Amino acid sequence: MRKHYEVVIGLEVHVQLTTNTKIFCGCSTAFGSSPNSQTCPVCLGLPGALPVLNRQVVENAIKAGLATNCQIAPRSIFARKNYFYPDLPKGYQISQFELPICEHGHLDIETEGQGERGGHQTIGITRIHMEEDAGKLLHSDDPTTGSRVDLNRACTPLLEVVSEPDMRSSDEAIAYLKKLHQIVMYLGICDGNLEEGSFRCDANVSVRPWGQEELGTRAELKNINSFRFIKEGIEYEIDRQIELIEDGGEVVQETRLYDSNTGMTRSMRGKEEAHDYRYFPDPDLVPLIIDNDWIETVRGILPELPEPKKARFMADYSLSAHNTDILTAEKALADYFDACARQHKDAKACANWVMGDVQRRRNDEGISVAEIPVTPELLVGMLERIADKTISGKIAKTVFEEMWTSGKSADAIIDEKGLKQVTDTGAIEKMVDDVIAANPGQAQEFSEGKDKLLGFFVGQVMKASKGKANPGMVNELLCKKLRG
Ligand SMILES: [Zn+2]
Repeated sequence: MRKHYEVVIGLEVHVQLTTNTKIFCGCSTAFGSSPNSQTCPVCLGLPGALPVLNRQVVENAIKAGLATNCQIAPRSIFARKNYFYPDLPKGYQISQFELPICEHGHLDIETEGQGERGGHQTIGITRIHMEEDAGKLLHSDDPTTGSRVDLNRACTPLLEVVSEPDMRSSDEAIAYLKKLHQIVMYLGICDGNLEEGSFRCDANVSVRPWGQEELGTRAELKNINSFRFIKEGIEYEIDRQIELIEDGGEVVQETRLYDSNTGMTRSMRGKEEAHDYRYFPDPDLVPLIIDNDWIETVRGILPELPEPKKARFMADYSLSAHNTDILTAEKALADYFDACARQHKDAKACANWVMGDVQRRRNDEGISVAEIPVTPELLVGMLERIADKTISGKIAKTVFEEMWTSGKSADAIIDEKGLKQVTDTGAIEKMVDDVIAANPGQAQEFSEGKDKLLGFFVGQVMKASKGKANPGMVNELLCKKLRG
């Protein structure tokens, strides 16, 4: 059935900013403090308390806007979004409605797949606006305690990034989300933790028969906390809507929750329209004026973003597009690799070790890049010893493991464990002679043309040398001797 329908997806992402203080007061945004300990009259919504805008929030919003190709509004205003909920003491959320800080941006994504929707797509970004988060309700099963509210999170700064309905599959939605996630991480404005809700996604999903101009009625999937669940939720929703239409039913506009246990979405409430919130400009906050100098100052402190970094890695280090994608996916890993490649002339060797053993060990232990015990300096120290043939690539694996656990330098480990490669021709020649003498049958077969036995002989010599013989020399000497 799917082939008769076109899928249309738009995404709204809430990015929690990592500022030290809240958006309209000086309270700390630190996580995990005792309930309501980080509050003041402003974030408690006490009558007469006046909000004061946090300059850092504006700066972070400008960064996000520049990094997503938005126009930064010279004048934007804050609005009250009115609704009643116990975690919102003022009875309204300060947000932006008309005149948001950023508009008309886009992100480029790549997806696999064929046909006209495979490969490269440009996804429009309608707007990015600043707003405050609400508090948190803590529900208890015990009827005597009931539900409680913790307002530590109230007034925490958020950016809401609203895309155009430009995505046509769950793959495109995920590619866009990962791209946006990567950018806010590179900018250092969000900790990026989906599970803890620092990067929250609502997906608007609708379907329409091919060729129909008008958009189908959409359902909004709320607050799903992993990329995998977002994909599953969207997939489920596409099938549900198509089935409904095929059965003669109608999709209703509503908010739906994804249940990761069942893999299904279920209706939560009817979806509000903007007018339900009775937006109006907040009279407590003056219009925000951003002049060109400020924008240019922020542009000047933007870090190198993923795309330019990729281009630089490919040009300076002659890496493939595929390897560059892996190395730049995470800014911290890109910086780690960059630090190695700046100090060691063989960038490809650096890339292979970082993508290989470093990442493998790191994944085994589930640690962040900052926690990797082998610093770029240590890794480069070892790569230098491979390059000058003090150790072989094979022995390097042992050295690497030892560096990881002990934090010692490669030189110290090579010395202590006597791992120096044997490059003395006489010594290797003797081992080669011994191995040939011990395996006369194989030597005979080799001389009769069974070339692949060379690997067997190399293995025997390497074993005899405890892995320390220089493999190139072993190879060369064996060929010479076996071929007579
Ligand atoms: Zn406060």
